[in-house]
Amino acid sequence: MKSLPYFCRGEVIRGFGRGSKELGIPTANFPDSVVDNLPADISTGIYYGWACVGNGDVHKMVMSIGWNPYYKNTKKSMETHVLHTFKEDFYGEILSVVMVGYIRPERSYTTLEALIAAINSDIEEAKVKLELPEHLKLRDDNFFTSAPSSSSPLPTTTVTTIMNGH
Ligand code: ADP
Ligand code: MG
Repeated sequence: MKSLPYFCRGEVIRGFGRGSKELGIPTANFPDSVVDNLPADISTGIYYGWACVGNGDVHKMVMSIGWNPYYKNTKKSMETHVLHTFKEDFYGEILSVVMVGYIRPERSYTTLEALIAAINSDIEEAKVKLELPEHLKLRDDNFFTSAPSSSSPLPTTTVTTIMNGH
């Protein structure tokens, strides 16, 4: 995929409430403004990369890009599971991510156990791949040190300009 690595950031909004948190795998959702900016060659499926909340530390992440049931599967959604245990939820905060690699396309699972097993294997793959020097380098990218706080989020136009700089 030519667009990888892909940098983006946006406010964490409430998701569709599919109970990801109950499965032990909370996923922070981006608003349409971020999803709509995705390059055309970014297909649906599971990605891995780096993420940071507000001005916090950069952590490993896995992201699912899928079809949003809220819009009758006509619009994409971007959901990031950060590989870190947070003390509190961070709705309304700015989440900055860089997607660095693709793991697999979307699949449907017949049981919840099969779904959870697949996600856990995605997480293991992400943990290993992100240790590669070319990926570790992106953890230290200026993009993360310039992350705005939730009290002063950048307007969408500015965010787009920053992203195009990458
Ligand atoms: P929703 O349907 O609103 O997205 P989820 O059950 O997917 O609800 O939970 C996502 C929320 O959980 C995030 O918006 C965030 O505030 C919180 N959260 C706590 N820990 C994490 C984490 N490690 N990764 C992603 N989100 C997390
Ligand atoms: Mg979610």
